[in-house]
Amino acid sequence: MKYDVIIIGSGLGGLECGYILSKKGYKVCILEQNAQIGGCMQTFKRGKSVFNTGFHYIGGLDEGQSLNKLFRYFDLLDLPWHKLDEDAFAEVIIDGKPFFLASGHERFVDTLAKDFPHQRKQLETYTHFLKQVGDNIFESFTSDFGNSALFDSSAYLFLQETVDDPLLRNILSGSSLTMELCSKKLPLYIFAQINNSFIQSTWRLNGNGSMIVDKLAGDIRAMGGDIITKAKVTRLIETDGRIGSVEYNDDAQVSGTYVISDIHPSQTLALIPESRHIRKMYRNRISSISNTFGIFTVHLQIKESAMPYLNRNIFIYRNEDIIWDYKFNGEISSVLVNYNIPRDGSCTSNIDILTPMCWDEVARWADTVIGKRGADYEMFKQQKAESCIEFVSERIPDLKNCIEKIYTSTPLTYRDYTGTPNGSAYGIQKDYNDTLGTIIVPQTQIPNLFLSGQNLNLHGVLGVSMTSFFTCAKIVGMDNLLKDFNI
Ligand SMILES: Cc1cc2nc3c(=O)[nH]c(=O)nc-3n(C[C@H](O)[C@H](O)[C@H](O)COP(=O)(O)OP(=O)(O)OC[C@H]3O[C@@H](n4cnc5c(N)ncnc54)[C@H](O)[C@@H]3O)c2cc1C
Repeated sequence: MKYDVIIIGSGLGGLECGYILSKKGYKVCILEQNAQIGGCMQTFKRGKSVFNTGFHYIGGLDEGQSLNKLFRYFDLLDLPWHKLDEDAFAEVIIDGKPFFLASGHERFVDTLAKDFPHQRKQLETYTHFLKQVGDNIFESFTSDFGNSALFDSSAYLFLQETVDDPLLRNILSGSSLTMELCSKKLPLYIFAQINNSFIQSTWRLNGNGSMIVDKLAGDIRAMGGDIITKAKVTRLIETDGRIGSVEYNDDAQVSGTYVISDIHPSQTLALIPESRHIRKMYRNRISSISNTFGIFTVHLQIKESAMPYLNRNIFIYRNEDIIWDYKFNGEISSVLVNYNIPRDGSCTSNIDILTPMCWDEVARWADTVIGKRGADYEMFKQQKAESCIEFVSERIPDLKNCIEKIYTSTPLTYRDYTGTPNGSAYGIQKDYNDTLGTIIVPQTQIPNLFLSGQNLNLHGVLGVSMTSFFTCAKIVGMDNLLKDFNI
């Protein structure tokens, strides 16, 4: 069958591109290697509990905020979104002392100014700046992809120049545990855009991440699109300088006028061993870019009615030194604790603890496959999980008594379920010193092959949703899209 567009990967980016193009009347086919769609938005069920893998919370869903317009377009606003406490959407604990981040720019300043009265003016300057970046989010839709000058600026230097108190700087960075705070690389645009969206408002889903992908997938199918699971793309076949057909599972083929790849750019290029367009320099550049660290997650099934639900995220750091430039020093030193919204009643049924994990920690099992990694791997995970639980117990002393069952995932799990190199959580690590080298644009050197997903522009639900528009604009034209999108 000949399609208008073939999309590789049913992560959020692949599905959103499928949605936009189906809405525009294109006949779309999405090929997904797994049995389950969604990539990092996948969920898994154990007993009565459903656990999220990647997605846990988002920011900026209220009217007029960053993600609201995007989710309105994708018809995702009617899902059961649940706002985290406005007085404290996040609790940042450093050296045992808690600090609270409140929603709304003024309340955010007022709350922190109670602990740092001498820094009120600087807090105002900080939030004013973030707000401006967030308010201008849609301007980038009318300029070139990744064109913001803030991609060339350092988030770390911005904080140093704006806020005097080093502890306050770390608190302001403390809810970015899963962003990879690399002082020598992180672009200000990424730090400001993502943090601003959480200050606007922070939300969990009363359910799980698969509700988002199921809704998108249902709509794509209703608009005539096809989604084929257990279809691992194995080759992109170039004919007369264009991708003529896409091979999957080594023996099946589909053809399309355009191809969008939602997988890591280096994996995309590996699917095209021969090409008259792709230059060696481009291949070398893409394959040499660093990726962000991975995540180790402890998924806790909680005994019935044992643990009251907490409507905020908790970020715990052993001390101030490990907030920027994470390095594993043999002990757990930073975690995010996320509670699932109770199905009924006031107690949670599951809690996730997330901590950064670099590839080195699991590299010795690199040649193994899911479920067959050996007893030493199981032991490694168990010890790591116990250390995480021990660390969190300092803040939640009752935690150990409330645990029914423990499940874990490592960067190996992410590598094998999403194909991301070395199990990187957010893909390509953007570098403000080298934006030309690390901000990858949707158009590849092959005229009908485009990229999308978290490896371009920003990662996370906000970033991936923005990038889907940029990618599809290459096919239908940005002016054409903006009309539908009401910007
Ligand atoms: C632990 C963790 C926690 C996170 N928490 C949050 C959060 O709370 N909030 C937030 O906003 N973001 C969060 N994120 C980030 C967010 O989930 C991702 O940025 C986003 O979902 C990535 O979507 P994507 O479409 O770019 O890629 P992916 O989700 O990686 O999707 C790629 C898809 O392509 C498929 N694929 C790969 N190779 C092939 C092939 N050869 N053939 C066919 N299919 C293939 C994969 O199976 C996968 O389904 C988190 C991420 C992680 C890892």
